[in-house]
Amino acid sequence: MKRYRIGIIGGGASGIMAAITAAGEGMDVTLLEGGERIGRKILMTGNGRCNLSNLYMDEHMYYGANRDWIMNHIRQFDVQDTIAFFQRLGLLVKDKNGYLYPYCEQASVLLDAMRFEAGALGVKVVTGFKVDKIQKKSDVFVVSAEKNSFEFDRIIIACGGKAAPKTGSDGSGYTLAKQLGHTINPVVPALVQLRCEETFMKSIAGVRAEGTVKVMSRGKCIVEETGEIQFTDYGISGIPVFQISRVVNYMLLKQEKVTVKLDLLPGIDDSTYEHIKINRKLLQNDRTIEELFNGILNKKIMALFIKLTGLKPQESSDSLSDSSFDMVLALCKNFELHVYESNSFEQAQVCAGGVNVSELTDTLESSIVPGAFFAGEIIDVDGKCGGYNLQWAWSSGYIAAIAASK
Ligand SMILES: Cc1cc2nc3c(=O)[nH]c(=O)nc-3n(C[C@H](O)[C@H](O)[C@H](O)COP(=O)(O)OP(=O)(O)OC[C@H]3O[C@@H](n4cnc5c(N)ncnc54)[C@H](O)[C@@H]3O)c2cc1C
Repeated sequence: MKRYRIGIIGGGASGIMAAITAAGEGMDVTLLEGGERIGRKILMTGNGRCNLSNLYMDEHMYYGANRDWIMNHIRQFDVQDTIAFFQRLGLLVKDKNGYLYPYCEQASVLLDAMRFEAGALGVKVVTGFKVDKIQKKSDVFVVSAEKNSFEFDRIIIACGGKAAPKTGSDGSGYTLAKQLGHTINPVVPALVQLRCEETFMKSIAGVRAEGTVKVMSRGKCIVEETGEIQFTDYGISGIPVFQISRVVNYMLLKQEKVTVKLDLLPGIDDSTYEHIKINRKLLQNDRTIEELFNGILNKKIMALFIKLTGLKPQESSDSLSDSSFDMVLALCKNFELHVYESNSFEQAQVCAGGVNVSELTDTLESSIVPGAFFAGEIIDVDGKCGGYNLQWAWSSGYIAAIAASK
């Protein structure tokens, strides 16, 4: 087998995986990293604990490119392959309700395991090398940064997207992909907080509540997620909000108005809800309006709903009309907010959008410039919270490296 010179641009999750895999195939591998060290984003994952994958895997966990295409790639290096890979590197892996972490829940331990393996396999790591140009001259790729350049037979572009740019993934990979003639599907922040028009958000900032977030389009719910919603002074956050944020951002990109509806009693069905209403009516005598509605949701949220209905919390509930009573309770299941933007790429965990997969072969090779491969978040694939983005990085890094080594 020929020993190709393989240049990997970007020392993040997918790039390091690609480097280890190609070196394991006997290739001459150089990992070029723009920052002063490799794997900075890995250190931030899972709040420093690194949710490295998930045992529950299906197509609904991913967005972007066609879902069959994504799953075909995930299956080529799946969750079990990921576990086996890290175990081979000496890392103990822990399963927490399907969410996989290093046993010690330290992202730095996973990164070290990868760094040690790359070193043992002879991967040359060049840091502080921010690639700004890629040229293909006959069969050779010339990869340059300021004054220096390297020559390779094959390259793997693994520069990430532009989420959390202080970790080094600042979107420059898209410029490199465009230099090679690739199309970049519109890139928006994903897994990110949403900012709402409502000025009353400050009154419930800091409250956390179990709920379902529904994104509405032309009166219909197009996506919904349930989990712990966090209210902030500017809008909403929390895992269910992160999960729907990419859908919202694409709607905003198309200048669509975005309404989200929150059901803060998600476990309560219609008949139970009716019972709650009837029972609460029985409490009406001798209580203030605030006292009448005590016991349903967080005090601050209930106080807001009373205020939004135009009622005075300290007034006697004797004066409360049936319609006002219904309106307060209806808000618990149907609280509308209007989103005008998300937080920026700085706060986002990933990017949606990126290199158009129709310009890639099944092995993630460029169909425009043969010999150039892509891996990781730079490709138009984004996953939900829960280890799915790192799994994409591992799978795509592996696939690109195996193909580049052939
Ligand atoms: C706060 C946070 C928490 C997260 N938690 C999780 C989690 O628990 N589980 C999960 O699955 N996912 C998580 N993610 C997402 C996950 O980290 C990313 O999807 C994944 O790291 C992407 O890997 P990548 O290799 O494509 O890109 P990156 O990890 O972004 O790496 C790209 C690398 O390329 C380098 N680079 C960029 N441009 C150039 C250039 N021109 N020249 C040279 N080098 C360049 C960058 O410096 C960087 O080191 C989290 C993300 C964030 C920000």
